Amino acid sequence: MESHAVGSKQKPHAVCVPYPAQGHINPMLKVAKLLHSKGFHVSFVNTIYNHNRLLRSRGPNALDGLPSFQFESIPDGLPETDVEATQHIPTLCESTMKTCLAPFKDLLGRINARDDVPPVSCIVSDGCMSFTLDAAEEFEVPEVLFWTTSACGFSTYLHLYRFIEKGSPLKDESNLTEEQLDTKIDWIPSMKNLKLKDIPSFILTTNPDDIMLNFLIREAERAKRASAIILNTFDDLEHDGVQSIQSMLPPVYSIGPLHLFANREIAEGSDIGQMGSNLWREETKCLDWLDTKSRNSVLYVNFGSLIVMTTKQLVEFAWGLAGSGKEFLWVIRPDLVAGDEAKVPPEFLKETTGRRMLASWCPQEKVLSHPAIGGFLTHSGWNSTLESLSSGVPMVCWPFFAEQQTNCKFTCDEWGVGMKIGGDVKREEVEAVVRELMDGERGRRMREKAEEWQRLAEEATYHKRGSSVVNFETFVTKLLLG
Ligand code: UDP
Repeated sequence: MESHAVGSKQKPHAVCVPYPAQGHINPMLKVAKLLHSKGFHVSFVNTIYNHNRLLRSRGPNALDGLPSFQFESIPDGLPETDVEATQHIPTLCESTMKTCLAPFKDLLGRINARDDVPPVSCIVSDGCMSFTLDAAEEFEVPEVLFWTTSACGFSTYLHLYRFIEKGSPLKDESNLTEEQLDTKIDWIPSMKNLKLKDIPSFILTTNPDDIMLNFLIREAERAKRASAIILNTFDDLEHDGVQSIQSMLPPVYSIGPLHLFANREIAEGSDIGQMGSNLWREETKCLDWLDTKSRNSVLYVNFGSLIVMTTKQLVEFAWGLAGSGKEFLWVIRPDLVAGDEAKVPPEFLKETTGRRMLASWCPQEKVLSHPAIGGFLTHSGWNSTLESLSSGVPMVCWPFFAEQQTNCKFTCDEWGVGMKIGGDVKREEVEAVVRELMDGERGRRMREKAEEWQRLAEEATYHKRGSSVVNFETFVTKLLLG
């Protein structure tokens, strides 16, 4: 039987609230596990919709938790049967912002009324779930906001309001010339050589009332009310970006890469280590396939959990991969293509027999750290970027939306581990960059650079005096226990 006390004191109790999307739930679960390893009682709050999805993908006992680590759920405000709305990010943002506060406060009240768990002592919430700040103020507990973006991505969000003040650009991409997209943006501190096309895609809208643009401006502004901000990055990688955010906001702590940090602190086979957050059922046979391949020989292709592309884009990628002649592992989510089944042409399957593995969802961290993986064709989502860079894997970047554009810019130009391909994907371009990444001189240099970042990422998280380890200790001691 677990005790609710640390020594003679009652355990601190952290309520962790991720935004309801895969790329947010994963890193928040790692923060929650790390807090648990520091002696916290944890309540992890999913939306009911995702709670049920997790039960389907991971099995009926997956969220049973432990006496000191419990899974809770609140409604996201959307009808559970309306899968499209639940997966539509603007609809989901608007709904969580407008409807989640009341059920969240009810949940806190119910937790505090229990005598078998310690009272809530702090909230750790996703930066895009800032309604939780109102609850923290009402319950008089500190709140730490976790922005699951890169520091460079978060910096651009913090400055979106200035684009509006400057009256720009209120045009969508199709109404902007190449020259206009190349307009220099040189007024965001610590961000060098940025162009309009490197700013989060939400700025490229003709609608001043655009939901995402206004939502992000609002959430970034509200971040000022938090006791602290935590970021899944590390000081060696984004020191300047973190410092510039620090000058605008409450204390900022970089505590990543969280997957390395959590793997070091928590044994994989332990009860906590086995808690997972995949909303899709993982296909692990790709790891056996990778075991049969030689070092750095396989390209890994995955566009994350949210991107929805056209059939034409899927087909261009398929023929580009076929033309590259390389072996590849391609994860094609069943819902990857807008309004259609995500199906590759049968001729492509025939042509690539024996040198490809297709899956619908994979254990990505394990895939990226497999020695057979030599490159990653990615959408530049922040988790994917960080997982790749800290596994020593260079990237081909096809940024799609949100701050993926900014991540891509930094991946390619600042960190030296990526090559970009244009939004209007062409098979010849895919074929050429994949060859260069896997076999070319540029690819070799990028791999060397990625290996350097891997070493620094490990230093930040594996060593007692690593920057992320120290930052984590500091924010826990100062804010959550203080
Ligand atoms: N992921 C995974 N298996 C997959 C695809 C993605 O485990 O087949 C994980 C990946 O490791 C990452 C997250 O899902 O932690 C995706 O987050 P990211 O920020 O890269 O992209 P998003 O899905 O938010 O666009």
